[in-house]
Amino acid sequence: MAHAVLKCDTKKINDIRNYYQTKIIDKLAPGALFTAKTSDCTITAYKSGKVLFQGKSAELEASKWQAGSEAFPASKKKTVNRTVSHKYLPPKNISQLTVIGSDEVGTGDYFGPITVCAVHSGPEQEKIFNQLGVKDSKTLTDERMIIMAQDIIKYVDYSLLILPNDKYNQLQAKGYSQGKMKAVLHNKALLNVIEKVNSQNKSYDGILIDQFAKPDIYFSYIKEEKHQVKDKVFFQTKAEGLHLSVAAASIIARYAFLKEMDKLSDIAGHTLPKGAGFKVDQAAAEIIREKGEGILNKIAKTHFANTKKAQMLK
Ligand code: MG
Repeated sequence: MAHAVLKCDTKKINDIRNYYQTKIIDKLAPGALFTAKTSDCTITAYKSGKVLFQGKSAELEASKWQAGSEAFPASKKKTVNRTVSHKYLPPKNISQLTVIGSDEVGTGDYFGPITVCAVHSGPEQEKIFNQLGVKDSKTLTDERMIIMAQDIIKYVDYSLLILPNDKYNQLQAKGYSQGKMKAVLHNKALLNVIEKVNSQNKSYDGILIDQFAKPDIYFSYIKEEKHQVKDKVFFQTKAEGLHLSVAAASIIARYAFLKEMDKLSDIAGHTLPKGAGFKVDQAAAEIIREKGEGILNKIAKTHFANTKKAQMLK
């Protein structure tokens, strides 16, 4: 039987779970987090981070998740590298260029909005960014990022967009995938920054999007947008390590997400946990008990499997 294996991080596994959530079956293999069955593929995610795709469309299903994942066994790596590399990869000297970089936060979290930020930065900001410690964005605590974000925004042109939960749920019900929502938000944030930069006669060498979808898919998501940012656009996964603009964008987006989580926690009367794990199910169950299910539309991404699990727990 055809099969493919990917090694994924928690965020990606959550994305996979959400994507196949209506196909999840009750039977759980040893060490598995969940198993989902489509008409011609069985997808099993393991606690180890491996995700196994089995069946006729195994390759096809796995290819949806390959960006940013490590595929193995090693013999398969070649194919994967070919699919990951694309004509939108940034030039080698990208870190020395002036770039508008964008990133998003909150996509794998049941509670809270999606936040997207785009930042314009180049050699001029490098010194202050280095002093602030922007390049370590992946290793910073939330507390540190809250302080840093407030400093960063003093030195750059940026755009920060927040997609509130009720709007998210509305779009989702209309058939928008999360990928499409993200793409539309990235495009909008980038447009905003381009406008700001142009109006001040500042320049930029290119645009770097922290890749969450294959470029062709990204562009198909934004094809109905009135203005589409297409020129000099580069995509790469883990782009926060490539250019400080993306690192700064991810810090600002995280800051906004945390601030929104505080506001929503006040509304819910409950400190809302991050992620999409069991703690989240428990918190959602308590909130349903105390405030009724209607409140979830305002504070959560209700199509996540957590809603059903919370209903069972309450
Ligand atoms: Mg990202």
